[in-house]
Amino acid sequence: MSELSKEADVVVIGAGPGGYAAAFHAADHGLKTVLVDEREAPGGVCLYVGCIPSKALLHVAELLNEAEHAKEFGIDFGKPKIDVDRIRQWKDDVVKKLTGGVSQIAKLRGVDSVQGRAVFEDANTLRVEGNGSIRFKNAIIATGSRNMAIPGIELKSDRVINSTGGLELKEVPETLLVVGGGYIGLEMGTVYAALGSKVSVVELTDGLLPGCDRDLVRPLEKRVRKSFQGVHLNSKVVGMKEVKKGIEVEFEGEIETKKAVFDQVLVAVGRRPNSENLGLDKIGVEVDGSGFVVIDEKCRTAQPNIYAIGDVAGQPMLAHKASREGKVAAEVIAGRAAAFDNLAIPAVVFTDPEIAWCGLTENEAKAEGKEVKVARFPWAASGRALTLDRTEGLTKILFDPESERVLGVGIVGPGAGELIAEGVLAVEMAAVAEDLAATIHAHPTLSETVMEAAESFYGHATHIYRKRG
Ligand code: FAD
Repeated sequence: MSELSKEADVVVIGAGPGGYAAAFHAADHGLKTVLVDEREAPGGVCLYVGCIPSKALLHVAELLNEAEHAKEFGIDFGKPKIDVDRIRQWKDDVVKKLTGGVSQIAKLRGVDSVQGRAVFEDANTLRVEGNGSIRFKNAIIATGSRNMAIPGIELKSDRVINSTGGLELKEVPETLLVVGGGYIGLEMGTVYAALGSKVSVVELTDGLLPGCDRDLVRPLEKRVRKSFQGVHLNSKVVGMKEVKKGIEVEFEGEIETKKAVFDQVLVAVGRRPNSENLGLDKIGVEVDGSGFVVIDEKCRTAQPNIYAIGDVAGQPMLAHKASREGKVAAEVIAGRAAAFDNLAIPAVVFTDPEIAWCGLTENEAKAEGKEVKVARFPWAASGRALTLDRTEGLTKILFDPESERVLGVGIVGPGAGELIAEGVLAVEMAAVAEDLAATIHAHPTLSETVMEAAESFYGHATHIYRKRG
């Protein structure tokens, strides 16, 4: 391995969707940029073991579920023949294509990619382990996050996996326990349930997707209770041990059976920022009690030439938030008047049905004691939802009652993840109810539910009759 000694205007540590977006943007602004990652090619968690492989597998699940659903209106494709090796290969190909493409774009942009683990030596020097050092003017920490284990329960076994192990799709276990009813647990459970596993989910709190508005979760929970073998709320895993037939799990809480054996256990209890072992204490970068690097609205840390973005720099831990922060940091370094001043960060749960929201949620409005008017449009009144036989959905918009401004949007139903983009734009552009209500939406589409929700703010959605007076 050659000893490196490089000079850079900007060094980016971590080549996930935050880091590579930052590096590309910095290079586009004419800055000499080095991108360091332990992996050979850029992509980070998102491309290798997160968003992309999970959505590839969720696409498979969607096809299987749609084929099953088609029986309702007279089409029986028969029992699907599932070739797990082929699915895995296809998913791996998707990842390879994307990471290969991003790697090519890095080269074309003149971004210098260096492989290795990076540690700060001082506020202008980075050591890439076993690979020399880089002198830099500015650094962007984009080291992301990693899976957490169940606190106090460590069991080393091939049968106890996390999301990364689940995405490897080595086999389809007959029974799978998902620990954690957050979005990652539910997405992984959706994949395995569609492939034929009997999936049970155990969640510590009193509802799936803690924090998300309950009216959005309800249609998902109803469906999940049908497609999963069990949904156990207010319950937790207190012990696990390997037995002959699998993993024996001990539970506490509302769950009826306090001990059960599963072929596999998938732990999805949260993620932790990668802020340790970077030498941050040496360079005056502040880290909060949860391990997140503390930044200001310019993504700057307590050390003025050092920035942090993405999962390592705080919630929400989402790829698009990481990318936006990456661009902000690069622009600030390039001397632009940029700041992370976004009003709405969309969140999407790619389950069946999907759930998506942005801006203010009803839960937040209640917690803050903020007065809002919530306009709802149930998909039972949507022609498009009827043609899809998916009328369980809901579109709701939170308005400021006086200015009529759109403060937040929540959607549950197939395609919610695509539909939420209109809500994000509405919040960012300070749209008012009339803007959405008077904008022509193509018919018949699910996007009309956004228009009709806005109309219902005025009490006259076309497809809902409300008695006057
Ligand atoms: P990461 O993607 O975590 O990348 C950090 C990189 O830094 C890694 O490559 C790591 O190897 C490298 N690194 C760390 N330390 C060092 C070091 N010292 N030296 C060199 N390199 C280092 N988000 C969404 O928005 N939509 C989704 O649908 C979605 N689905 C997900 C599904 C799963 C199963 C998981 C696990 C996550 C999902 N996420 C999703 C979250 C998303 O993956 C993260 O928010 C996103 O990857 C964060 O990007 P990042 O750039 O901050 O860091």
